[in-house]
Amino acid sequence: MVLILLGPPGAGKGTQAVALADELDLVQISTGDILREAVRSGSELGKKANSYLEQGLLVPDPIMLDLIEEELKLHAPDTGVILDGFPRTLAQAEGLTGLLARLGMNVDAVVSIEIDDATLVKRLSARRSCPQCGAVYNLVTNPPSTDSTCDRCGHHLIQRDDDHVDTVRERLRVYHTQTEPVVDYYRERSLLKEVDGTGTPQEVWERIVKILSKQDNG
Ligand code: AMP
Repeated sequence: MVLILLGPPGAGKGTQAVALADELDLVQISTGDILREAVRSGSELGKKANSYLEQGLLVPDPIMLDLIEEELKLHAPDTGVILDGFPRTLAQAEGLTGLLARLGMNVDAVVSIEIDDATLVKRLSARRSCPQCGAVYNLVTNPPSTDSTCDRCGHHLIQRDDDHVDTVRERLRVYHTQTEPVVDYYRERSLLKEVDGTGTPQEVWERIVKILSKQDNG
């Protein structure tokens, strides 16, 4: 199974992808996490991607398509996958269709989490992440039990550089111009399930489960 999770930055893709991967026994492929890890480790990929991430811009399509091909070949033959943060441009969506066809697979469903920009700016500026284990918190809606310390591993929490307000606005602009056409691409192919992204992560999760179970029952 190939499931895609779309949505603007801050819509809660990462949180929902972790829960869905767990529930449906899928491997989560988060391109943002892979790129951040590459930057941290100083790998070739990290060197190429670093300045794009810093500015909130998209990493070029050929780099992303190579990355996703490698990930799919690694995981998809054995288990289903959930793509979190990919595709983000029409060229990536078309490249993915071709790549999956070559692997004898196809996209089963695309969940798009919908939410307005003002809510996202508020959410992202309250977001804190654990650089050690990748856990994500929100100081307002999902705070850690001890201030600025990760509940899972005890590491000091940070604010991602690209969660600062100017970069957030740039990421939203990029989403509207480059990623919204991807939503239309899947709508035209009758694969799109739109979910209201307001409310708590639990509320959004329940909407996603409901819409996906409708698909299972035809
Ligand atoms: P995310 O954590 O998904 O918001 O991704 C963080 C950053 O990684 C983005 O702002 C981009 O710079 C880069 N990135 C992640 N996924 C992609 C993608 N599919 N295409 C291009 N750039 C990406």
